[in-house]
Amino acid sequence: MTEPFIIRGADVAAEVYRELSASLDTFAKQGVRPGLAVVLVGDDPASKAYVASKDRKCRELGFHSIKIELPANTQLPDLLARIDQLNRDPAIHGILVQMPLPAHLDEQTVIRAIDPRKDVDGLHPVNLGKLVMEDPTGFAPCTPSGCQRMLQFAGIETTGARVVVLGRSLLVGKSIALLLVGRGPQADATVTIAHSRSRDLPALCREADILIAAVGKANFVTASFVKPGATVIDVGINRTPDPQNIGRYRLTGDVAYDEVAPLCRAITPVPGGVGVMTIAMLMANTAKACRMALGTL
Ligand code: NAP
Repeated sequence: MTEPFIIRGADVAAEVYRELSASLDTFAKQGVRPGLAVVLVGDDPASKAYVASKDRKCRELGFHSIKIELPANTQLPDLLARIDQLNRDPAIHGILVQMPLPAHLDEQTVIRAIDPRKDVDGLHPVNLGKLVMEDPTGFAPCTPSGCQRMLQFAGIETTGARVVVLGRSLLVGKSIALLLVGRGPQADATVTIAHSRSRDLPALCREADILIAAVGKANFVTASFVKPGATVIDVGINRTPDPQNIGRYRLTGDVAYDEVAPLCRAITPVPGGVGVMTIAMLMANTAKACRMALGTL
């Protein structure tokens, strides 16, 4: 068996950023900068780190970036009022409210308050509806479109391919399945979605030419799940105790990488895989929202 192709997020993201820089030149000629507002409620360390890296990437690219940090006890009407301000701000083309929210804030109510034309996270019902309808004026959720882009980068044919997606969340599993079952060159796949009630997961997953793991359980996908020559996309980000540093944690995917990689045609690592792409696709969606606001799309 030949060595697997490691699909590194940074390499794929670099391609996305190269494409974006061309459209930034066009925006600059029109005196416009794509603007992204990220709203963080509370002080969850992982969410803070995500928000900081989104803000950093915006600045690197020359986007206009606003970071709104609100205390964990923020009440729903106050949060909705902030979102309303951002909806009406012409310098802001994209709004992302970092999830998860504190338990007293209903996430669906908050997502529905975002103007769908600025919902660059792609989770508003209007955008999910457009995803189902294959309407290109919508925003696809960032992690799923990042996975699709990684397959394209690695030259993995999706047309007619058997895809098994482990996980059925809206944010990841269900949305990836919808993207890949759609019509088009990076889609046209035959997709199965599996979840915690599915039977005999290893046998089901061994049918896959492309296996996508979005379960949220470290090292869940072992060699017995993988057909030799399959491509494996690992969406999972799990904090597991670091055996080399007692009391410290490290990031681990849903895939037992060391035993699965030798079987694969291509595989994504964790860290350095899908996570990097999520931010790249967020930037791409923000640029798209800007083009739409300018009427050039
Ligand atoms: P989620 O909402 O918790 O969904 C997990 C899914 O896995 C559910 O559909 C669940 O099935 C299924 N599942 C759980 N245990 C299972 C089992 N034993 N067998 C089969 N299916 C099982 O999580 P999520 O938001 O989709 O995220 C999944 C993972 O991706 C997490 O590690 C998350 O941190 C990571 N993630 C990464 C990125 C990134 O940028 N790389 C972005 C988002 C999420 P049921 O529906 O039956 O409960």
